Amino acid sequence: MVVKLKDIMSTKLMTIDENKTIEEAAKKMKKVSSLLVKRKGKIYGIITDTDIVKKVVAKGLNPKKVKVKDIVSTPLITLDENEDVRKASYIMTKRGIKRVVITRNGKVVGIVTATDIARYIPDYIDLLEIGKKYAGVERPILENLEDELLIGECEECGNLTSDLKLVNGRWLCEDCREEWK
Ligand SMILES: [Zn+2]
Repeated sequence: MVVKLKDIMSTKLMTIDENKTIEEAAKKMKKVSSLLVKRKGKIYGIITDTDIVKKVVAKGLNPKKVKVKDIVSTPLITLDENEDVRKASYIMTKRGIKRVVITRNGKVVGIVTATDIARYIPDYIDLLEIGKKYAGVERPILENLEDELLIGECEECGNLTSDLKLVNGRWLCEDCREEWK
């Protein structure tokens, strides 16, 4: 049985502007464990409760002074809502992340966490464990990993794009990738 990401994704998305403080972010996170980060209204990154603990609290920094953009994780790894759940679990394992942002026609519509996958599909806990042990050694499930799209900032032109790809160690948008060739 194929379980699609849209079957298990959470659509309760909350966003925050990159110029807000960590204190403001934390207040918004009482019911969610992550916030999507916007610049001029466009989503390009994410912050999680773990980020706040590790990057701000544990370092003794002042949550009133540190801004969201100082600790944002970007680019965002996205998958289409019709993709197989196993693809998300594989990508999480391979990249060491716990969340994947879900899109419909390129627009962000949801989020899936490793916990969601484990909760809805108990067998996939094993898959995650197996993936951790053999990450990079076996690719048992997925062929088209290149299909994954990334939302973020192009390192060449600075534009935000939903089609970011790694080219020789740099994140580039479609236009800049063309120039590179
Ligand atoms: Zn560019």
